Amino acid sequence: MPASTHGYSEVLLTQLRRELHKYPELSGEEVQTAIRISRFLSDQKPDRIISKLGGNGVAAVFEGKNPGKRIMLRCELDALPIEESNQFTYRSVKKGVSHVCGHDGHMAILCGVASALGIQRPERGSVVLLFQPAEENGAGAVSLLSDKRFREIWPDYIFALHNLPGYRKGTVIVRERTFTASVNSIIIKLQGVKAHAGEPMRGNNPANAVAEIIGTLRRAENRRSDQPDFALFTPVYIRLGSIAYGVSADEAELHYTLRAANEAHLRKLEAFTVDQVQKVASDCGLDITLDWTQRFIATDNDPRLTRLVTEAAQTAGLEVIEAGSPFSWGEDFGYYTKEIPGVLFGLGAGNRVASLHQPDYDFPDVLLGTGADLFREIINLSLQ
Ligand SMILES: [Zn+2]
Ligand SMILES: [Zn+2]
Repeated sequence: MPASTHGYSEVLLTQLRRELHKYPELSGEEVQTAIRISRFLSDQKPDRIISKLGGNGVAAVFEGKNPGKRIMLRCELDALPIEESNQFTYRSVKKGVSHVCGHDGHMAILCGVASALGIQRPERGSVVLLFQPAEENGAGAVSLLSDKRFREIWPDYIFALHNLPGYRKGTVIVRERTFTASVNSIIIKLQGVKAHAGEPMRGNNPANAVAEIIGTLRRAENRRSDQPDFALFTPVYIRLGSIAYGVSADEAELHYTLRAANEAHLRKLEAFTVDQVQKVASDCGLDITLDWTQRFIATDNDPRLTRLVTEAAQTAGLEVIEAGSPFSWGEDFGYYTKEIPGVLFGLGAGNRVASLHQPDYDFPDVLLGTGADLFREIINLSLQ
């Protein structure tokens, strides 16, 4: 099928997106997805493909006709441990795993860019298309940045988009500096003493401590993400004892995510959490263990490059919205912007669609061309 004047075929991109959607893979397990992507990329004849980057990552390098800056566009390979509720023909064939964050769409968009670059190289500079593994668990960007082969393709600038339900399809959502929140997750384990359910006073049941921790963290929240002391403590999993009616529980586990607008404030929330949990445990005579996991640092968008994205969007005929406050979700893109000037921006996915990470979310195919065209404008402006 011939490519359109845009340098890609929307029909092919839609087919590819749906195939990726049908065969999702979890963070760190994106082996088949990486193979599918590599196959598509090699058809576009890049100058170089690097595989197994920081795990299952893939990068394709397209050199321009003359030397110049190197820019990188990044998307994500992984899906989520969520059972899809959609019934269409390309629904996930993997039980309990689905692309409900729209990373299938992000990958197909970059494949559209690859197709366009395969037909027409930039006048100067080079473009690296990066397919990153393990975004959802916060591990991928860190392992890529520490892979020594990443040094060989280290860019001057890096860009990524994330589809955003709740905004009109095709609008571009930008924000200078903090775009997504700083996030850390804690596992709190409480250990008391087991007893007969008829004699709980002979043991030490952690139920009250669990209630105390839930209440304390809820009261410390400020759910307004536009305020500097924005603080979210979200319980994601809580368990106490077991279903044994003769036994007064002796242990409990609480998993929380903590969110703040910047790293400094997140450090305060972490210290507060540790302090409060230790206080409750000592008041109740319980042993505790604390573990941290799935950390994401805030995305820090370079102001000049953010304006470049705005200009590119306007050139592509897209409406631009400036987000008044940072988004409360975490994105491991923050690890790149800590070291490389870059921008993460949103692409509106429509007002009447499911939210990200909901079991019926499906990336709108109509955005594949929009995203690819927008990235091409960003490439043009960055490499001038
Ligand atoms: Zn996600
Ligand atoms: Zn995502």
